[in-house]
This record gives sequence, structure tokens and C-alpha cells, in this order.
Amino acid sequence: MVKQTIQIFARVKPTVRKQQQGIYSIDEDEKLTPSLEIILPRDLADGFVNNKRESYRFKFQRIFDQDAKQETIFENIAKPVAESVLAGYNGTIFAYGQTGSGKTFTITGGAERYSDRGIIPRTLSYIFEQLQKDSSKIYTTHISYLEIYNECGYDLLDPRHEASSLEDLPKVTVLEDPDQNIHLKNLSLHQAATEEEALNLLFLGDTNRMIAETPMNQASTRSHCIFTIHLSSKEPGSATVRHAKLHLVDLAGSERVAKTGVGGQLLTEAKYINLSLHYLEQVIIALSEKHRSHIPYRNSMMTSVLRDSLGGNCMTTMIATLSLEKRNIDESISTCRFAQRVALIKNEAVLNEEIDPKLMIIRLQKEIQELKDELAIVTGEQRTEALTEAELLQLEKLITSFLEDQDPESKLEVGTDMRKIHHCFHYLKKLLNDKKIHRQSTAPSENKDQNCQEPLKEEEYKKLRDILQQRDNEINILVNMLKKEKKKAQDALHLSSVDRSQLSHGQSSPFPPGNPDGPKTLPFSASTQALDSSTSPYRSSLLHRKTGMREEMSLGRQEAFEIFKRDHADSVTIEDNKQILKQRFAEAKALGESINEARSKIGISENIPVPSMPDQLEEKLRSQLEEEKRRYKTMFARLKALKVEIEHLQLLMDKAKVKLQKEFEAWWAKEATSLQVNSPAVTPSNHVKPFPQMSEAQHERSQPLSNKSDVYARKILPSPGPLLHSQEQSSPGAPMENSIPERPVSSVPLTGDSQTDSDILAFIKARHNILQRTGFQ
Ligand code: ADP
Ligand code: MG
Repeated sequence: MVKQTIQIFARVKPTVRKQQQGIYSIDEDEKLTPSLEIILPRDLADGFVNNKRESYRFKFQRIFDQDAKQETIFENIAKPVAESVLAGYNGTIFAYGQTGSGKTFTITGGAERYSDRGIIPRTLSYIFEQLQKDSSKIYTTHISYLEIYNECGYDLLDPRHEASSLEDLPKVTVLEDPDQNIHLKNLSLHQAATEEEALNLLFLGDTNRMIAETPMNQASTRSHCIFTIHLSSKEPGSATVRHAKLHLVDLAGSERVAKTGVGGQLLTEAKYINLSLHYLEQVIIALSEKHRSHIPYRNSMMTSVLRDSLGGNCMTTMIATLSLEKRNIDESISTCRFAQRVALIKNEAVLNEEIDPKLMIIRLQKEIQELKDELAIVTGEQRTEALTEAELLQLEKLITSFLEDQDPESKLEVGTDMRKIHHCFHYLKKLLNDKKIHRQSTAPSENKDQNCQEPLKEEEYKKLRDILQQRDNEINILVNMLKKEKKKAQDALHLSSVDRSQLSHGQSSPFPPGNPDGPKTLPFSASTQALDSSTSPYRSSLLHRKTGMREEMSLGRQEAFEIFKRDHADSVTIEDNKQILKQRFAEAKALGESINEARSKIGISENIPVPSMPDQLEEKLRSQLEEEKRRYKTMFARLKALKVEIEHLQLLMDKAKVKLQKEFEAWWAKEATSLQVNSPAVTPSNHVKPFPQMSEAQHERSQPLSNKSDVYARKILPSPGPLLHSQEQSSPGAPMENSIPERPVSSVPLTGDSQTDSDILAFIKARHNILQRTGFQ
């Protein structure tokens, strides 16, 4: 058992303005516990007439200042917890702080750079790396991702997200068994065999969460998210299984209701959130007071779920995230106060061991048999009837595994039944004789073939050859993957041009499929597909089915989307990441080539006929071979790391794209609604004319509209044609060259189809708005 108080850390988010620095100071001189001093600025301090305190001091295990890197946070905070989870203890890391203070950045990571990945991806990477290294145990990893919003639990990994909205999915509920263990009903557990699979689940959950979020339901600031890694381990042959859980928790913003109180639904939500964090506080106060027998865990879902993490069987760590700017002083002080309370809580972590019933049965059966045998000896009873077929088969299996066992100490245990012992001797004798006969018949030809080669060396070379074969296969798989990844990158790079050509062909989605499941132009080996199968269903569905977004877009929408995309701040991120991806692919390709080179060198040295070589040359070749192998291994490891980075970047890009499209859809819906409200005169007519295709230059020229009323004047026109045209020309505010484009806006036809028409009209307004924003008007 490990007794430990909850560890508390503070992390200060970088401030934009430098002059804010005087607001706090970090004192690291005190060797044992560093402290954070928050200094009230004069004007604020004066406000507290009767309580003129000017600074507050809080102690933390460690304080990470603005320049702390994600890597440092992981190494110092998360790695020790991950290690205890690997050893079989439960662990929890939770981030607490006001909205915008960096909780999500710390727990999950930034949305842009690979180096910004947070505790969850780094912990996954670390855990899987350790699992791979440790072959003494059999590990199984499962992932769950829970969101608690307004006291209701939602499974972010529920496959039904595809078809339903969050509200329609079955809620996750807390059940308590007679031993007061908590079980979560309707929360799915997903096995993740690799880091990649686990990472995909994280991104899937985050995307599902983002999609469920609407302006009225700002789940990301008002909900709690619990990403859990469930790890089971077992030594081969042992019936004892260890279970450990690691909760990585991104809590709702800790700001008070007064700040968010804007009435209506938001107030209700804010109250709820406060309620939830309020109950968390109550539990923490109860735990930090001595001699309190009742801890009010059951008051809220979150405290029930985190019951073990708070005052129970868990090693828990809190990260207080602080945005230390003048306007946030109150919230920062209250976050630190909360942390000081938390630091008083003592937890007692124990190893969670359990006996596997199946293995236990086998063990007991064996014991019964042994006891029976002993009994037979004691009573002097010897059996005489013949052994059954099954018994004989079982004995032969035992003998085979005994002979194959490399351990010189291994024993052939058949009990004390003399019939079985005799049978074993017979069987072994038979095997020995068979082998002798076989040797005699093959010996002469072997001599002929092998001449002077010693059998020992032959074995050694065979081993080397096998290793080479394995490496060959690995390289093939990786090279194929590289080809495939490269194609994906090319697809991504040509995204905009594809979009454009899709426009002219009247096709639909603004994104090419997230994963090239469709046209496969490169030959992939079965193993490559197997490798990729873990990611493709997630990634393609992320972009398409799971988003529930319309794949069919009218031309107007596509045009508008193009402009929206170009104008959107995130497109810079997407572009940047595309560039990084391109570099990584180039690096991976170069590496792949070097690997091939190294491999062929290994191959050449291996092919040189060994027997005819003098010892010295052989020795030299051997050491060269070893050197090449070492080089090869290093490169191989780097290639693997690159693969993880590429995968991560792609997921980041996918997420950014989904976000972009989601924001576009929301904006579009808003524009369309406002247009419909304002344009009762749009009347359907029967002829459907396509939206004119314009070059980019034409767009530029055709965009400017003189003023808002002009837009509205246009959209209420009942039919295309002269009226629109003449209005445009007569518009006094519009400069000449803008008002008469090569293909005048006035010729934009209304199609008669109300959906398409409203699309077109919204598009016109979109341009107008964008032009206004970009200063064209
Ligand atoms: P929270 O989850 O607490 O509401 P976020 O993690 O979303 O806050 O952070 C708000 C913004 O600040 C995000 O844009 C995030 O990228 C940025 N941010 C937070 N912490 C850091 C940091 N340590 N370094 C750089 N950017 C940060
Ligand atoms: Mg957040």
C-alpha cells in the first residue's frame, strides 16, 4: 500500500502582454516546497477597504512558469503517475482552473503543433513503449472517454454518435455494488492494441464532443471530460490479474456563476457546472477535515466517478492552471485556494489484484489430480486398466512440450501412475530410435552437401538469414505505408485544387475522403492494409459519416465554403501542418531509402560464401554486418517515430477540417435563415439554371457590392435578369469597374429551386460580408 497526499502542481499560462509580469512571483529558493505569490495590483487592493491584503502566497509541489514546455510537464507530472499505473496502481491527473487558463492545452494539447501535444498523447506513447519493452507480462489496454455535462454522463466513444445527436444517446449512469464499487453503465470500453489506436480514440472522442457543441451548448467549457486508460497485466501462467486505471481529467471552467450569468439557458448551465464543482469542493473539504465520517460522494456524478481518486485507492495529482492577468486575479486566487485544500487529502493506493477464474479452475483441477495420485500411492492401489485415448494424447503432448522446452531444469510431470510412467518411457524410446534411423539415412548426403561447413555455423547463419527476412518484411510494410502516406499527403496538398475541380464538375464534399479507401492506385500488401485498418475507419468516418454533415453541397455553398475557408484563421494552421507533413514525408522517404541501402549491404555481406573465407575476412565482414545492423535499427526507430508524428499531424488536420466545416455550416445556416426571414418575395419558378462558374479573378471582380441594402435589394428579386442588372448599374455608390464585372453579378440567375436559390442568395451575402471584413468595402 502506498500512502500519499494528492500532489499539487501549478502551471502559469503565457500572457500576451509582458507588463503583466509584476502580478506574481515564484519563489523556488525554499528547497522543499516552492511557492507562488500573487500580488494584488494597487488599484485592486484599494478596493478591499477593510481587508487590505496585497499579496497571497501559495505552496505547490512545483510551479511551472509561462515558458514551461509540454515535454517538461509530462516528464514531471504525468510520467511518475504513468509509472505507478504500469506497476498496477490507480492514477488520476486532473486539471482545475478557469476557462482559458490552459486545462485542455495541458491535458490534451494544442490543436496546431505536434510539439504541443499534451499529457494524454504523451502518456499513451509512454505506456505503449513500456508495454512493448516488458515481455514478462501480458498486457491488455482499454480506453473509455466520458463527458459529464449538466450532471449527465455521455459516452464520447459511443459508435452510435454517427447516427444520433448526443442528447439521444443512452446516458451513462453510475451504479454502485454492495461493496460500494462504482460501475458505469453505458460507457463503452475500447481495446487499443497500439498507441495509434488509442490516439485515434482520443481524437474520435474530441471530434464527437466538438460536433455536439453548439453556441448554446459550450460543452468544452462547461463539461468535465474523463479519458481513462484501463490497463490489465498478468504473468504468463499466473492466475493473478492486475487492473489499474488512469483517469486524465479536464474539468469544466472553475469560474463563478456571477461572471457567466447571462440569463436563460447559459445561466442554468453555469449554475449546474458550479453545482458540480461545488460538490467536488464539498467532497474535498470533507476529506481535508479530520474525523469526518461521511463524505458526500454521491451528490454528483463526477464525485461518484472520481470517488477512488479522491481520498481512496489512487495516486492523484492536480494541476492548477492559472492565467495570471489582472482581470483574472480573483479566479487565480480561488484556484490556488482550492489547490491548498486538495493538498491535504490523503490517498491510499493498493495493488488491484484479482484471480482469473478460468485459470483458477485449471489450477484446481491439476491439484485434484495430484491429490488423487498421491492417494493412490498411499493406499498402495495400482491401476491396471489400459490408458484411454485421451490420456495417451495428453501424455504425448506433455512429452512434446517437455522436449521442446529449452529450460534444462524443466520436468516431465505425469504423476505417480505407473502406467503413465511406462508409457512415457516407451514413447521416448520410440522417438529416439526413429531419430537414429533418420540420421543414418540422411547422413551421407548431408556430408556431400556441406563439405567443410560446421553444423553450428550453419545454424548461426540460418538465424541471421531469418532475422534478415523479418527485417525485409518490415521494410516492405513500411515502404508501402510510406507510399500510401505520401499519396495521402499529395491528396491533402491538392486539396484546394481538387475542391476547385470538384466545383466545375458539380461534385460534392469540400474535402477529399479522409482516407483513401476508395481509389487505391498503389499496390498495398495485405499487411499494409492490416496496419492501416486500425486508423482508416476512424479517420474517414471522422470527416464524413460521424460529422453528420451534408456531403452533397450545392454549387453556391461550395463557392461560399471556398471563400470561408480562405478567410478562416484555421486555414493557416491547416496550411502550416500540410507543409510540415510534406517535410516529414520527405524525411521519411529519405530514411526509407537509407534503410533500403543498409538492408542491401546487410544482404550482400550475408550472401558471400562463408566457408571459403579466411577467418580474418570473415571476422571483418561480421563486424561490418553488425555495424550495419545497428545503423539499420536506429533508422528504423526514427522511421517509427516519424510515423507516429505523421499520424498525429493528420489527426490534428482532420480535426481542424471538421471544425472548419462545422463553423461554416453554422454560419451558413445563420445566413440562410436571416435571408429567408428578410426575403419573402423569393418565389420558385420552374426552370433550373446552373450557377455560373467563375474563375478566381472573376470572383474578385464580381464580388464588391455597394452596400447592405444593395444585397437585400438583390435577394428579394423574384427572377433573374434585367431588373437585377439595371439595379446594379444604377447603384450610385458602386465604382464603375466593380459594378461591371466580366461576368456581372447581375447575371446570377435564381434557379427557381428554393433551396438552391437561398444558397445563392446566402452566397452573395457571404461575399458581401467577407468583402466588408477584408476591407474591400
Ligand atoms: P481551458 O481548457 O482551460 O479553457 P485552453 O487549454 O483551451 O483553456 O487554453 C486557452 C487558449 O490558450 C488556447 O488557445 C490554448 O492553445 C492557449 N494556451 C493555453 N496554455 C498554453 C500554454 N502553456 N502555451 C501556449 N498556449 C497555451
Ligand atoms: Mg478546455
